Amino acid sequence: LEHLLRDPSLLETRAFVAGEWISADDGALFDVRNPARGDVIAQVADVGRGEAARAIAAAEKARHPWAARTGKDRAGVLRKWFDLMMENQEDLALILTAEMGKPLSEARGEIAYGASFVEWFGEEAKRVYGETIPGHQPDKRITVLRQPIGVAASITPWNFPNAMIARKVAPALAVGCGFVARPATETPLSALAMAVLAERAGVPKGLLSVIPSSRASDIGKEFCENPVVRKLTFTGSTEVGRILLRQAADQVMKCSMELGGNAPFIVFDDADLDRAVEGAMTSKFRNNGQTCVCANRIYVQAGVYDAFAAKLAAAVSKLKVGDGMDDGVSTGPLINESAVEKIEDHIRDVLDNGGSITTGGKRHELGGTFFQPTVATGVTQSMKVAKEETFGPLAPLFRFDTEEDAIALANDTIFGLACYFYARDMGRITRVQEALEYGIVGVNTGIISTELAPFGGVKQSGLGREGSRHGIDDFLEMKYICLSI
Ligand code: ADP
Repeated sequence: LEHLLRDPSLLETRAFVAGEWISADDGALFDVRNPARGDVIAQVADVGRGEAARAIAAAEKARHPWAARTGKDRAGVLRKWFDLMMENQEDLALILTAEMGKPLSEARGEIAYGASFVEWFGEEAKRVYGETIPGHQPDKRITVLRQPIGVAASITPWNFPNAMIARKVAPALAVGCGFVARPATETPLSALAMAVLAERAGVPKGLLSVIPSSRASDIGKEFCENPVVRKLTFTGSTEVGRILLRQAADQVMKCSMELGGNAPFIVFDDADLDRAVEGAMTSKFRNNGQTCVCANRIYVQAGVYDAFAAKLAAAVSKLKVGDGMDDGVSTGPLINESAVEKIEDHIRDVLDNGGSITTGGKRHELGGTFFQPTVATGVTQSMKVAKEETFGPLAPLFRFDTEEDAIALANDTIFGLACYFYARDMGRITRVQEALEYGIVGVNTGIISTELAPFGGVKQSGLGREGSRHGIDDFLEMKYICLSI
């Protein structure tokens, strides 16, 4: 990997704790593997609670002078960080593909997407407005300040090794918080490379730490039990989110949770079918189905079911599976063996219960964790895929009859992150977008992520929003001042 990089110093394997690049106190290391080839590409410092505590203490110390600087000044540092991320986009993308497996073109896109949060929230640093409220008595004046919450800590998954961290750290630093990031065990290198650039951009010593660790639950405990941490921001499964919320309860810590989804993708009979196929392809197969907003259940109205199924199968058979580093590859490997076992389990369950596989359905001939992009038909609500996120390249097609049925089926889940539908009738579009119990609705589009909009879920998909001006609120506390004159 090192020889591919224009700037090999971005390939950092030490932890970034309290402004120093360090080995773990006990010298421990863990392996980072390339999922396309299975080989070890780096050994990274495996830090524990002690180093996490030092990172938190340093963030607490550094945050006060940082918050005392003007918004414009903080914006300048974030702008520099954004510029450095974009100048090093190719190297950052190579590191990302090497540790995570997504095609290089998608990795480049993720770097630009991650960087866009740094740019956007940097700009917002100048607009952390308070409020004045007319007093409740003649001698009273009411002012509301919005102040940084304190030290924020993040735990993030491997599917977006750059962007998941960027959209948490950027608002935190923009408003004047300190930050400690614990990247996923599978993908620490992208996070460490971001820290190298943050240091170059002039992020003050200690304000930001990146602590790679294979002991996620130890770090999670330190984040929840250390009284200096005032905010936990997590992206991952609903299961782990629940554990962290319980742990955070002891300190009544403010939490943002971006948890699992089970996105429905509805195709009505008045939809433009070609656009719907295109949307389903991006929504389902981007990142090889490994995003929390990937279509998980594709509901197709009876009148267009067969036509849609045929067009989708044709598009899926054109996907090129391979090492993300190779030209023209649209679909990389899955992250690990248990991801392959999960999709196999869902496919077996479809077949056992009367559904069929029209395309794919098996491990790919490339071996390892490569899997054939798959389309299943005759899928019903009692099958596993209706309840659980597959997180892999399986497009299951469910049939429905009426608009009411589609809405009821789509809402029949504990999750409520993203959903999508394709239709042309304006009355239907309005009714359906209002009835879907989701935080994000894509209408006639399969791509909804942007730094400009509030991303987040309802129900058991999470708490809080990331991106847009709302993404800043979770890192602020309101202070109401009552002045008697
Ligand atoms: P995913 O399937 O996307 O990896 P997880 O919820 O299992 O979703 O993991 C998301 C992140 O949470 C990862 O970085 C993982 O290491 C971390 N994690 C897993 N279990 C815990 C825990 N008990 N406490 C803190 N972090 C955890």
